[in-house]
Amino acid sequence: MMNKRVALVTGASRGIGACIAKRLARDGFDVAVNYSRSEQSALTVVQEIIQDGGQAIAIQADVSDTESVHQMFNAIERKMGTVDVVINNAGIMKLAKLAETTDEHFDSHIDTNLRGTFNTLRESATRINNGGRIVNLSTSVVGLKLESYSIYAATKSAVETLSAIFAKELAGRNITVNCVAPGPTATDLFLTGKPKAVIEKLASMAPLNRLGETDDISSVIAFLTSEDGRWINGQTIRANGGII
Ligand code: NDP
Repeated sequence: MMNKRVALVTGASRGIGACIAKRLARDGFDVAVNYSRSEQSALTVVQEIIQDGGQAIAIQADVSDTESVHQMFNAIERKMGTVDVVINNAGIMKLAKLAETTDEHFDSHIDTNLRGTFNTLRESATRINNGGRIVNLSTSVVGLKLESYSIYAATKSAVETLSAIFAKELAGRNITVNCVAPGPTATDLFLTGKPKAVIEKLASMAPLNRLGETDDISSVIAFLTSEDGRWINGQTIRANGGII
């Protein structure tokens, strides 16, 4: 266990994060499965990884809370060792036209998507091993600029900017920082509250003519965190079947 590489995946209790956690475990990482509220789901992900022969622990922390993020890194170091890979996946998405966006809507997106990513990046600066890899989840809506996505897309646009600058600030440590920007992907975040016709329309917008699946995204993360991904740094990779 001493020489195993350690990966933290935020928001890994379900959806894309759970898929990334399982993939990284299959690729040989010991995985910290972070969640904020869905403890049972996080424990199920951990159980599945262990049943599959991997190592994982569940760690509760609301990424928008600075102290909780600090404590999460402490706990991972105690239980698994210092981290080699950080995947900032935790995110929320609610849709509203800008004129109808409430302060609560605005604040919650800034807190989870932007402050949450900032918190783990700032902590990573002193905690991640040299040679490490950081991947932040953005969205292809940054390019598509669809109506009603303004606040959500703005937080992810900021995440892309943070990532590229952080990649430069980590110069000399052989650490890469990249973003993966999925298109519509079949998870709770995307499917909840959307009429079937809207889902079908969005699925048909990609030339590959379907929604993304979680493993379409975890495959890209696996590449970036593997030896083969070593020369990709400061980039955003859109994984969306060609929607933009
Ligand atoms: P889901 O809603 O399915 O899952 C979100 C995960 O984030 C859950 O595990 C949730 O855990 C966790 N989470 C939410 N808030 C916090 C928080 N404050 N602290 C810690 N964990 C938190 O989302 P997806 O899997 O669809 O999305 C994952 C990422 O991919 C997000 O960043 C999203 O913006 C991005 N993305 C998704 C797309 C899609 O179509 N699905 C498209 C483009 C980007 P809990 O229940 O415990 O809070």
